[in-house]
Amino acid sequence: MNVAAILRLKGRGVVTITKDKSLLDIAKLLEQHGIGCIVIEGDNGKVAGIVSERDLMRAIGQSGPKVLKEPVSDFMTKTVVTAREADPIDRLMSEMTTHRFRHMPVVERGRLIGLVSIGDVVKMRITEVEMETTATREYAGYCQEEGYHPIRLPQSMPHTMAGLGTKRTNSMERCDVSN
Ligand code: AMP
Repeated sequence: MNVAAILRLKGRGVVTITKDKSLLDIAKLLEQHGIGCIVIEGDNGKVAGIVSERDLMRAIGQSGPKVLKEPVSDFMTKTVVTAREADPIDRLMSEMTTHRFRHMPVVERGRLIGLVSIGDVVKMRITEVEMETTATREYAGYCQEEGYHPIRLPQSMPHTMAGLGTKRTNSMERCDVSN
């Protein structure tokens, strides 16, 4: 699965703000929308930066609440790692783990078209694993009903199930579908 699949599920809406606004404006938007980061929009729908709740907490922790009046531009991360619709979910997991951030704006032809959070990625991975488990159980049930060993593929086996069977190892002696 890829980024496009995530955006189809969650939608393409992104909460943005311009860099002249204050950190207090950021705090209000994070609270209103129940989200963890705001993308800073530049000219022509381009991404100029990103501010997450961590940036906000760091700024307040270092300078106190007076910092909330300061402009976003002084606190945003300007080098933003972005994703494309065709990117596989594994690439996003790898980038988020390597760089230790939890959000990636999605950009196509230079314009912001969505945002993927680590929560979206985890949700999609769980869906994928559930689908794989269901397919494996159905295949195992089919084998049991037909009296086939899951490794030795019968000629009559539906084409869609054949791929699963070939991946099994010879150490699998039984076709157990009780769980
Ligand atoms: P987060 O884990 O998303 O709350 O962000 C942790 C830090 O990484 C903050 O300083 C953010 O400004 C920064 N950050 C978040 N997302 C990105 C991104 N896609 N590219 C670069 N920096 C980011």
